Amino acid sequence: MAAQRCGVCHRRLTDPASIAMGYGPECRGKMTKRGWKFPKPIYRVTHGKVELVRLEGDLTPPAQSESRPSKKVKR
Ligand SMILES: [Zn+2]
Repeated sequence: MAAQRCGVCHRRLTDPASIAMGYGPECRGKMTKRGWKFPKPIYRVTHGKVELVRLEGDLTPPAQSESRPSKKVKR
């Protein structure tokens, strides 16, 4: 499920890892601080070009232990 836009701010995603995860780097940073865990991108360098091979791990939402739930809770 590769989205071309960030799932948070809807900005266009340009790098393969962000497209694969569905979130841009800035929003990933913010989400990480809120407890989200992102898969680790695995890169390969071929002829001087960096290619995204795959993502290792899963996108994991934070544990529902916060007293104040975020506006948009996906399931
Ligand atoms: Zn974003």
